Amino acid sequence: MTIRAEYLGMGLTVDDLDVENLEYFRHCAEHDFHLQVCAQCGRLRYPPTTACPWCATLESTWKKVEGKGAVHSYSEVHHAIQPAFRGHTPYLILLVDLDTQKGEPTPDEALRVVGNLCTPDGQLAPPELVKQVGIGTRVRMVYSDVAPGLALPQWAIDETAQRAISVWRYPQE
Ligand SMILES: [Zn+2]
Repeated sequence: MTIRAEYLGMGLTVDDLDVENLEYFRHCAEHDFHLQVCAQCGRLRYPPTTACPWCATLESTWKKVEGKGAVHSYSEVHHAIQPAFRGHTPYLILLVDLDTQKGEPTPDEALRVVGNLCTPDGQLAPPELVKQVGIGTRVRMVYSDVAPGLALPQWAIDETAQRAISVWRYPQE
């Protein structure tokens, strides 16, 4: 069944033909993170897709994956392109290396999951949190509930993790 919802003034749709994303978001709605495991080579993949990016096998199963990792890269948005984001600037878009399967199949690779920096309850993070995060920051997955049956996986600072020895950030004014 097609998922339709509105998030901060934007329409979100997951079409009923998009079976991989429907399954992915079905788990997210339960605040559970699952990824596909290839039936042939056994590797996880992200984002959800029909064929394995490494061996092109079509068959896969779903597996629960721990939503923990470190920031691989980020973008800090100061100019909102959507009116509903105006009250949330600056906000961060994070690209996070999951701990699971990091360094496979080659040392430079990882499952890299995109999300915004949020508070633990899934709201876009305020400026004082935005300032604390850079490349290397430890984060954990949280969820933004959008509508019944739809939640977006996001990222929050992992307060239980040891602080990264060095977090890299663009110079701040
Ligand atoms: Zn494969």
